[in-house]
Amino acid sequence: MQFIDLKTQYGLIENRVKKRFDDIMKNARFVMGKEVVELEEMLAEYVGVKYCITCSSGTDALLIPLMAYGIGKNDAVFVPTFTFYASAEIIATVGATPIFIDVKKETFNIDVDKLETAIKAVQDEGKLQPKAIIPVDLFGLPAEHDRIREIAQKYNLIVLEDGAQGFGGTINGRKSCGFGDVSATSFFPAKPLGCYGDGGAIFTNDDTLMDLMKSIRIHGQGIDRYENVRLGINGRLDTLQAAVLLEKLGIFDSELENRNKIAEFYNRGLKDDFTTPNVEEGYMSSWAQYTLIADDNAQRDKIMQHLKSRDIPTMIYYPIPLHRQKVFSNVRSDYSDLSISENLVERVFSIPMHPYMKEEDVAAVIAALKESR
Ligand SMILES: *Cc1c(COP(=O)(O)O)cnc(C)c1O
Repeated sequence: MQFIDLKTQYGLIENRVKKRFDDIMKNARFVMGKEVVELEEMLAEYVGVKYCITCSSGTDALLIPLMAYGIGKNDAVFVPTFTFYASAEIIATVGATPIFIDVKKETFNIDVDKLETAIKAVQDEGKLQPKAIIPVDLFGLPAEHDRIREIAQKYNLIVLEDGAQGFGGTINGRKSCGFGDVSATSFFPAKPLGCYGDGGAIFTNDDTLMDLMKSIRIHGQGIDRYENVRLGINGRLDTLQAAVLLEKLGIFDSELENRNKIAEFYNRGLKDDFTTPNVEEGYMSSWAQYTLIADDNAQRDKIMQHLKSRDIPTMIYYPIPLHRQKVFSNVRSDYSDLSISENLVERVFSIPMHPYMKEEDVAAVIAALKESR
């Protein structure tokens, strides 16, 4: 059994993707071809925001907004400690300080009460200037964006939504990647909407910010290619990847439906024996991962071993909270309590989840999990 099956999906779009590739090759429009512009328009419309620009990765989709806001030295940026490394890495890349915040064990998303505690602690200390919050839509579930917005307004902070795993998720019909002042997503192949390599996109309704980010994406260029007015990066999305994404976007909603059916199937089969993921009223997850919590570390080992013996792959997202990563050993992590994340890393594991999972495979995973208890 595969953890994520990309081959079945390719079978569905193969002819159309090849036709698009052939066209791009023949016209040699490898960089900033018309497919890139078309994709940006379609993504903005899908999410329901004014602007989208694509870029070279989810990491750059987070980095470019921080550069555009001029966030840097002596600035504090609040980020969950239980997430993929890139969510915090880019804060340090621009010279700012990541302030790590705990998550809630029910949702794996940022704990807004602890966030406020940490903001106050940083203010009281008076060394760093609180500037931004990076809420992550972990495993596909949107964070508590309404409450995060209230906190952001109260303390005058920018919200940069990390929707790398969240694309397609919703809160009362409002789509992920539309919740931040600016939002980022990733098209890494394993994400809900993936391309065939690296890619990402940034979303906003802010005209001024959009102009800045477009400039930063291409070496801080001014009105023409050889005028450079600020520091930037080489952060464009390849035309070939845009072509893949145009085809994948066409089948994305039906894939989302399938993912939610599989999650329902898992929930029903597992809820009596395991702590299953909690999706609150009004929320919809895009199920980038389906993650369970074992009773303890030893039980997790036992379960994962047993599934392996049944040829069922599992993964641990994530084994180390970011405040314990070596690279952040000089960053203070005592502004608020981080105990839930420290506990989760010992207990979480993710099971196969993709839109083309057969019912018998879902049933086999459930059966093997029940046996392992
Ligand atoms: C994957 C991911 C990123 C980075 O995206 P890349 O395209 O791999 O650079 C950032 N944040 C989160 C939460 C992710 O899962």
